[in-house]
Amino acid sequence: MLGTFAVIVWKSFTDVSFAALRPGPAPAVASRSAAGSSAAGDVSSAGAPLRTPEPPPPVDLGDFDRLRARSLLLPVPGVAPTSLHDDFQDERARGRHEALDMLAPRGTPVVAADDGRIEKLFTSVRGGLTVYQFDAEQVYCYYYAHLDRYAEGLAEGQVVKRGDRLGYVGTTGNAPPEKPHLHFAIFKLGPEKRWWEGVPINPFPLWAPSQTTAVR
Ligand SMILES: [Zn+2]
Repeated sequence: MLGTFAVIVWKSFTDVSFAALRPGPAPAVASRSAAGSSAAGDVSSAGAPLRTPEPPPPVDLGDFDRLRARSLLLPVPGVAPTSLHDDFQDERARGRHEALDMLAPRGTPVVAADDGRIEKLFTSVRGGLTVYQFDAEQVYCYYYAHLDRYAEGLAEGQVVKRGDRLGYVGTTGNAPPEKPHLHFAIFKLGPEKRWWEGVPINPFPLWAPSQTTAVR
């Protein structure tokens, strides 16, 4: 299982200089200032590193077990787990994919995989319309990208329950127009709980049939 699990690499999900390392549709440069990040990537405008001196949070099988125990919902209802393809390690134009793509017709509802809070609604060049949701314990961030539109009334700070509607499948950002899909990622937050920073975790094993059988 470790082979399918995340490589422990501390990443900034809106960091231009880390573009080759982050998930496919990472947020754009232009809006990073809204999040307090800087144009220089992982270095603040004052030249101080954004990273804390603390080491990145370790990601291990404990995280996998913790996430699996939550029985996360597939965020696109109707997508069969057996239809999923593990594309976490796929090399994309800008680096490793580090997410799970779920193909579905445009306009298919996208729902919260877990209880939590909407931390950030962000529009980026690659991710298009995106949602960053923290879990209730603020340990993990769930990232939903390429949305066609948000669910009506969705707002930052909103508390959501597993299954609540977040938006609709689309092709915003760099998704091919003929291939609507949800780009879904999970990353473990660091001590400062920054929505743009974390260690990616492969969602695929959480829904792999063998794993589902083992849990339920
Ligand atoms: Zn993707």
